[in-house]
Amino acid sequence: MSETPSELPPQGELPYPYEAPASQALFDRATVVTPGGVNSPVRAFRAVGGTPRFMVSGTGPYLTDADGRDYVDLVCSWGPMILGHSHPEVIAAVQDAVSRGTSFGTPGEGEVALAEEMVARIEPLEQVRLVSSGTEATMSAIRLARGFTRRTKVIKFAGCYHGHVDSLLAAAGSGVATFALPDTPGVTGAQAGDTIVLPYNDLEAVHEAFHRHPGEIACVITEASPGNMGVVPPVAGFNQGLKDACGKNGALFVSDEVMTGFRTSRAGWYGIDGVRPDLMTFGKVMGGGFPAAAFGGRADVMAHLAPAGPVYQAGTLSGNPVATAAGLAQLRLLDDAAYEKIDAVSARLRALVTEALTKEGVAHRLQNASNMFSVFFTDRSVRDYEDAKTQESFRYTAFFHSMLASGVYLPPSSFESWFVSTAHDDRALQRIADALPAAARAAAEATAA
Ligand code: PLP
Repeated sequence: MSETPSELPPQGELPYPYEAPASQALFDRATVVTPGGVNSPVRAFRAVGGTPRFMVSGTGPYLTDADGRDYVDLVCSWGPMILGHSHPEVIAAVQDAVSRGTSFGTPGEGEVALAEEMVARIEPLEQVRLVSSGTEATMSAIRLARGFTRRTKVIKFAGCYHGHVDSLLAAAGSGVATFALPDTPGVTGAQAGDTIVLPYNDLEAVHEAFHRHPGEIACVITEASPGNMGVVPPVAGFNQGLKDACGKNGALFVSDEVMTGFRTSRAGWYGIDGVRPDLMTFGKVMGGGFPAAAFGGRADVMAHLAPAGPVYQAGTLSGNPVATAAGLAQLRLLDDAAYEKIDAVSARLRALVTEALTKEGVAHRLQNASNMFSVFFTDRSVRDYEDAKTQESFRYTAFFHSMLASGVYLPPSSFESWFVSTAHDDRALQRIADALPAAARAAAEATAA
């Protein structure tokens, strides 16, 4: 594994998009044994086309693919790698844990220490239960909210993703409150029928839904600040309005911090807007690159969870000693200086992207929520999913491939947040700065297919 990025040929000499024969060979093998060749759909590059890069190693801000090319990574494993790849202290903690065994199926000190670290950082988080993925966290939080309130319906917002929980895979519907239709075959009308999908950032629609369904709504679940329709922060007062509406109507306010948790600040999005959720969900950063996630919140609500209470929830690998060691090591390194660094890197990058696109006269909106950000190729501000869908995604495709050809790995979809880390140093930023003018030109010259 090289610490030093390989020298890429100058941009002008690269075929566009350039070939990746070793990745292509692996992709061909993968499509035989795995549907679509990937284990999570966005990795297949369907939104941007071309060959998905199969990565073999990661160091600091760089990923190296099977063809031996390296990239400045602006995906960071979709958020978890906030200290960059192969951080020596995280690796040491993992090696130490592994040397003592990989799973015991019993309680262990590591999971207690991780829970204590989380609870110490986030004031409304009185208790947590560890699970293995963000999907499990939101699924369990919804079950607990229903068990606690003895109600069935759930409000979610179009464009917010909470993992592939059956009842939450219903993002359809805009404008007035609608009972959601399932977004995917395999989710039944019954599973989606208790989900009410509303437009994001629209408190009026929330009040109307509570009015129409008195005593029926168990909870409102929202991304604390959405990053799954691109970055679309809550307008001032939105999260507080949700909290107040829930309080007034006997429902729980569930803030999904799987993406924002321990990324947007020491205490995640709660550390920024200070709105107290009843329940919260976490994943990504808290696992240090391993499958660890959690849900938690008010102790009186969590007391309803088995074995303390009647709402069942369990997991063979929950609180896994290796995953909790990685998560704890990563969280302990995330002090104020680390967040200052990440925020500064993000601000610098946002300025570089804006400058390059403005210079080429490309209509765009760069939106951020703390250090998370994304670019929409549109001339209007994006407040909800309908706005997000107005972007000219074909420009992103051209932009993405130009950046990839110059050794910068962006999210392979225009509906995703970009992520940076403490490891993104001047050298990595310089490579991005050098790549941007051509990518902005490609975006300007792109035409709809
Ligand atoms: N919630 C949010 C806000 C997410 O961004 C994600 C994943 O991206 C999830 C839940 C699901 O997490 P996982 O992919 O670990 O199941």
